[in-house]
Amino acid sequence: MSSVLEPIFEGANSGARGVATPITVAPGDGIGPEITEAVLQILQAAGAQIAPEFVEVGERVYRSGNTSGIPEEAWASIDRTGVLLKGPITTPQGGGYKSLNVTMRKTLGLYANVRPCRSWKPVVSSRHPDMDVVIIRENEEDLYAGIEHRQTEDVAQCLKLITRKGSERIIRYAFEYARTQNRQRVTCMVKDNIMKITDGLFHRVFEEVAAEYPQIETNVQIIDFGMANFVHRPESYDVIVLPNLYGDILSDVAAQMTGSVGMGGSINIGNGGALFEAIHGSAPDLARNVANPSGLLLAGVEMLRHIGQHDVAARVMNAWLATLEDGVHTVDIASKQTQQKVGTREFAAAVIARLGRVPESFTAAEATAAAEPMRLPHTHETVVEAAEKKLVGVDVFVDWRQGSTEQLAAALQAATPANGLKLVMITNRGVKVWPQGNPKTLCTDHWRCRFQGEDVSHTQVVALLGAVAAAGLDFIKTEHLYTFDGQAGYSLGQGQ
Ligand code: NAD
Repeated sequence: MSSVLEPIFEGANSGARGVATPITVAPGDGIGPEITEAVLQILQAAGAQIAPEFVEVGERVYRSGNTSGIPEEAWASIDRTGVLLKGPITTPQGGGYKSLNVTMRKTLGLYANVRPCRSWKPVVSSRHPDMDVVIIRENEEDLYAGIEHRQTEDVAQCLKLITRKGSERIIRYAFEYARTQNRQRVTCMVKDNIMKITDGLFHRVFEEVAAEYPQIETNVQIIDFGMANFVHRPESYDVIVLPNLYGDILSDVAAQMTGSVGMGGSINIGNGGALFEAIHGSAPDLARNVANPSGLLLAGVEMLRHIGQHDVAARVMNAWLATLEDGVHTVDIASKQTQQKVGTREFAAAVIARLGRVPESFTAAEATAAAEPMRLPHTHETVVEAAEKKLVGVDVFVDWRQGSTEQLAAALQAATPANGLKLVMITNRGVKVWPQGNPKTLCTDHWRCRFQGEDVSHTQVVALLGAVAAAGLDFIKTEHLYTFDGQAGYSLGQGQ
């Protein structure tokens, strides 16, 4: 499609300028078009070899009846280029509209969200002036798989999925990022003291991958302590890798701690493409030449590195740092250091005027190996010998509000066929209530009834379920109990 921004790049990347890399540009809503224009002007002036294809996504597309906010032409362009520079979009209020970012992440398999969060002292005041951390968040799994069910009157559940492949991919990405970007330490945050199987898997894979990078320091922290410590001493962290939900929260906390939402860029990357954007939203109230284009510009710098244009990336970065140092600031970062308060367009012009300069107090960016592309060979995957998997029982979840725990146990025992499976435990909300429960335990209508046996077959399980149904008990789901090389692949009941 055509865009009002198209003239900025008219002829800029054709013919004599060599081979330009096609990229898709979605200016977005609110301040999106202004900051996108500012960024493209800077990139062009710095000599970026890019050929933008402009597409429209966001509010107007949503309002035209497309609930994803992304039209076919946009998908076609992203498929062609594999690189999207995106302005923020406005999500219309009210139901029915899907999150555009979630749709893009899932459709394109953008499994890694990379968010560099650093303070820009002394330009932007922050309580954490020495913070310089990169949060790497797994983007597709965990509680975001979107598998939710309401199962009884009282109880709803959301499935937390952690996979070995997904964990290895994001953790390896974090280590490769650290290696190529000259970072010294990778921290993993999990909650495997509670979620021993799911977060335990993420932790285990972290240890396995870490062993391949002996030159990089590593540590693992429990997320609650880790996040509290991060807020207290962010300067002691370097790269942090986390499963989806923890990463979602920490990356927003970290971005706020830098002192300005206008100065953060974000990358979503995977084998199906890469999406570069600012961390902030469309701020419609600022769409009058006052917004700070720095967040999208930093995302643009990462995009240049991604497509291998390190020299241009370094030139842009250094001119931007020199602009900040000279006290040319947009209103959101204005302080005692400010010499000149400027609008979006004037800020872009100031950066362009400083192309070729290097900063004096900030460390200058270099177009060296330290800025290698983050386009990684994701083909590497540890081959793990399949464990011996054995079925040893089944958890039958029952919706029950007709009587006491003892009555439920008696009804289940009466229904159990004599086929080798035996009722061994009932839990409610994960707490063991039979045998020998505590009368103080709060019970809902959602009971996990565990049946175990030796060398259990599917036929035995089906016979058990048939008998339970025939007894008039409402079973609402089952989970098989497997051992893997003799190790239980299921949690025990608390209190067991
Ligand atoms: P917002 O980020 O747009 O604004 C939050 C605050 O930060 C406002 O005070 C705003 O003025 C300020 N701000 C944001 N960007 C700035 C910039 N570049 N320079 C200076 N100040 C800036 O968040 P919001 O108001 O909650 O959301 C507005 C819209 O953006 C909503 O429709 C929301 O759904 C959408 N949104 C989109 C994205 C995205 O596209 N990735 C992300 C977040 C929010």
